[in-house]
Amino acid sequence: MQKKTVRDANIKGKKVIIRVDFNVPLDENFNITDERRITGALPTIQYALSQGASKVILMSHLGRPKGTGYEKDFSLLPVAKRLQELLKEKVLFLNECIGPAVKEAIAKSTERVVLLENLRFHTEEEKNDPGFAKELASLADIYVNDAFGTAHRAHASTAGITAYLPSVAGFLIEKELQYLGSAINDPKRPLVIILGGAKVSDKIQLIKNLIPKANSLIIGGGMAYTFLKAQGFNIGNSKLEKDKIDMAKELMEQAKKAGVELVLTSDFVITQDFASDDCKVSDVIPDGWQSLDIGPKTIKRYEQILNNAKTVVWNGPLGVFERDAYAKGTRAIADYLASLKDVTVIIGGGDSAAAVAKFGLEDKMTHISTGGGASLEFLEGKELPGIAALNNK
Ligand code: AMP
Repeated sequence: MQKKTVRDANIKGKKVIIRVDFNVPLDENFNITDERRITGALPTIQYALSQGASKVILMSHLGRPKGTGYEKDFSLLPVAKRLQELLKEKVLFLNECIGPAVKEAIAKSTERVVLLENLRFHTEEEKNDPGFAKELASLADIYVNDAFGTAHRAHASTAGITAYLPSVAGFLIEKELQYLGSAINDPKRPLVIILGGAKVSDKIQLIKNLIPKANSLIIGGGMAYTFLKAQGFNIGNSKLEKDKIDMAKELMEQAKKAGVELVLTSDFVITQDFASDDCKVSDVIPDGWQSLDIGPKTIKRYEQILNNAKTVVWNGPLGVFERDAYAKGTRAIADYLASLKDVTVIIGGGDSAAAVAKFGLEDKMTHISTGGGASLEFLEGKELPGIAALNNK
């Protein structure tokens, strides 16, 4: 890890401002339905406290408010309440994130932990406004970024603020970089990459970056059909991006040249109507039909390849996993990965993480990324602005 972490910072007696990702899902009664983003930030918060920080000031966004001030639906108050329970100490919740009243409340507070109100109540946050970043920075002596989920965005609280304070990574970011980084840059081989999801266009850069690194590349989900079409296979009404057929050919050619085994879908779960659960397994996709999941032969083929793997990286579901009728392929592969011994299994964030959670297999994977867009961009080989901005060792 080139970047400084909280371990490299002298925290004792200092005010530490930590950018966390408390963007948790809430139900209509403001109950948190998945608190992993809060528990994920606890090690860094607890470390700062144990090192004698005089104040730990937490800041985050929640959802997509308009940016024109307070909106109840996007308040971080429910998070403050839960955080207090998890930390077993009182948390001071402030109804603003910048300004003299915030400074005064922090100065007067007896609590060690302060949570600021949603950063995105100000449009300046996403605009990476220097004045807003400076205001946030003026609350503390040291800045810690532990919000991997927003590290791919250059916002005031993830990038701008680093101009004004010593800036280091928290443990969650460190862990994400270690797992994702070593899986693709220094993996135990064979490295098998499974890619799924809806669209090829979203994953072109990812495939390009991974071809030179992988031993085998499995392509399933909606994006596989553009590849099958490029091979001359009849795909009926299955998902197709016509303008990406040439790109699919090019990627298959690249994989061939690199000696990477590229494995597509070889049997299908097909239906005549996307909205219907009425479906059947088939080796072909007749006109008027579309495929919404991988079939049993494909599952077997994928399992054979995974059986030899020492490292697996999975990004994107293999079928329309949100519906039970088309979740069998994604579930079977998730189950198989869960059963593997001595294999590093990394689940990229977003839909693949949601699928693994839906099947209750989270504890069986080596690492599940907490960042959807951020883990995708990292795996694409892009620099994440929120990480690039931190101080080097
Ligand atoms: P992404 O956000 O690109 O990872 O795509 C995830 C979405 O792809 C999920 O909502 C799946 O329902 C969808 N998906 C997966 N396989 C298929 C398929 N064969 N046809 C249509 N959509 C699919």
